[in-house]
Amino acid sequence: MASYDFDIGIIGGGAAGLTVAAGAAQLGARTLLIEKEPSLGGDCLHFGCVPSKTLIKSAHVYHQLGRTKQFGLPEVDPGPVDFRQVADRIRSVIAQIQVHDSVERFCKLGAHVAFGEPEFTDEHSTQLNGKTLSAKYWAIATGSSPAPPRVHALDALDYITNREIFSLDKLPETLIVLGAGPIAVEMAQAFNRLGSKVVVIQRSGQILSKEDKDMADTVMQVLQDEGIEILLNRSIVDADQQNNIKSITVEDKDGNRSTHSGDTVLLAQGRTPNAEGLGLKNIDIAMTPGGITVDNRLRTSHKHIFAPGDVNGKFQFTHAAGYEGGIVITNAVFHLPRKTDYTLMPWCTFTDPELASIGMNEKRAGQEGVDYSVWTEEFNGNDRALAEGSSTGKIKMLLNEKEKVIGVQIVGPRAGDLLGEWVAILGGGVKLSTLAGTVHPYPTLAEINKRVAGTFISTKIFSDRIKKGLKLFFQLKGPAQDPCSKINHFDSV
Ligand SMILES: Cc1cc2nc3c(=O)[nH]c(=O)nc-3n(C[C@H](O)[C@H](O)[C@H](O)COP(=O)(O)OP(=O)(O)OC[C@H]3O[C@@H](n4cnc5c(N)ncnc54)[C@H](O)[C@@H]3O)c2cc1C
Repeated sequence: MASYDFDIGIIGGGAAGLTVAAGAAQLGARTLLIEKEPSLGGDCLHFGCVPSKTLIKSAHVYHQLGRTKQFGLPEVDPGPVDFRQVADRIRSVIAQIQVHDSVERFCKLGAHVAFGEPEFTDEHSTQLNGKTLSAKYWAIATGSSPAPPRVHALDALDYITNREIFSLDKLPETLIVLGAGPIAVEMAQAFNRLGSKVVVIQRSGQILSKEDKDMADTVMQVLQDEGIEILLNRSIVDADQQNNIKSITVEDKDGNRSTHSGDTVLLAQGRTPNAEGLGLKNIDIAMTPGGITVDNRLRTSHKHIFAPGDVNGKFQFTHAAGYEGGIVITNAVFHLPRKTDYTLMPWCTFTDPELASIGMNEKRAGQEGVDYSVWTEEFNGNDRALAEGSSTGKIKMLLNEKEKVIGVQIVGPRAGDLLGEWVAILGGGVKLSTLAGTVHPYPTLAEINKRVAGTFISTKIFSDRIKKGLKLFFQLKGPAQDPCSKINHFDSV
């Protein structure tokens, strides 16, 4: 029987790799974790979720300062933003969270942590800093990077990506955002709120193109109302840089061209897997431009090499990477054939209003030929949303023909948190009547969840059949004759 240095080797110390490393080490597997950057944590901690959500909060606070009058308060003039201070706050939040992802913590859990860029030399071995390290199982969890520009002309520009945007030493005067996915729109709104003029350039006819158009359009309307210029259906045809000013020429579907200039260009047109330099060709691992090919147990074309997280190109979220890390542990350490199931993978775009989703939306249901009905409730019917001054948006619930919930989307205040209740309901197979029968504290945003369930259930309770039955059994006398004239009569007494 072959002997290896480690039971499992993990390449990449981000959400996916750290989940595998922590689980495997705690279960007693001899675990090797290799990271190329000087610290653990991956994109989420250093260049993704954590800095972006910290930035969004600073932008939100600053934006609220400009809305004091709407809350019956005196107007304030906070002065311009010094982005270096925002960047300092971002760094300090990262530092607090870094403790959780420290080398010391992983060593204490029992993992051997090494730094560098390994290269596969055979199916079980890598070369790292001149040393050969072998493992029975491997997990490639190297994440993703911003996709390179689709248009050659952009190569001439000094554009930035999510790796630079959180540590700028000054606020961009004009920020041109290329792309309109979650990262692009979150950054567009945050920088616009902090005082940059923002232009978003998008190739397709919708922002957040995976979402239903009505939900994405609600977000787009808010962004536009806040002053962001959003150019849809535009292809980039030329780009140029004179000193620090970058210009991008776009063309619409009718061939009309316009040029947009600014001091900063953010490239956010999708992600590409981090697979360079790993020696994947040496061992013939199958992959596409979208990611390393995996089966439903996250095994690559070599069954003992797994690829969880962004690198497989499936669901590029931190919680998805964590979930997939768990699948790898079950397969590689417990030797149980656990498969992935993404039916209930939730996500949220943290614009204001947030847009959160679980299960099927109308787009996917339509593509998959699923018959569905739609139930909605607006936030302007939610007392707490009105009190908070954040009543834009709605919840949309999709039921299949058996009246089972197949998806929920929420666009509105705290949509990501509100979705948590649906994660439990759908995950636990809880009936809609149970949700409709719960008592939620008043006034809370979460009442909208109960309300949309109640709207559906009430069509059952107040059906003609039920009314007929009650009339028959309890001899109900039916509605009052001309009830409104009575009210008028009492009013005048
Ligand atoms: C701006 C932004 C905002 C985001 N916001 C959210 C959000 O709010 N919520 C959410 O769920 N997701 C968000 N994401 C996505 C999230 O960051 C990723 O889905 C998540 O980090 C994926 O985890 P991972 O472990 O697959 O990859 P990563 O976290 O990227 O980890 C990969 C690790 O592998 C290392 N590595 C790469 N190549 C090598 C190599 N050759 N050798 C050794 N090590 C290597 C990298 O240095 C890195 O540490 C955001 C992303 C961005 C860019």
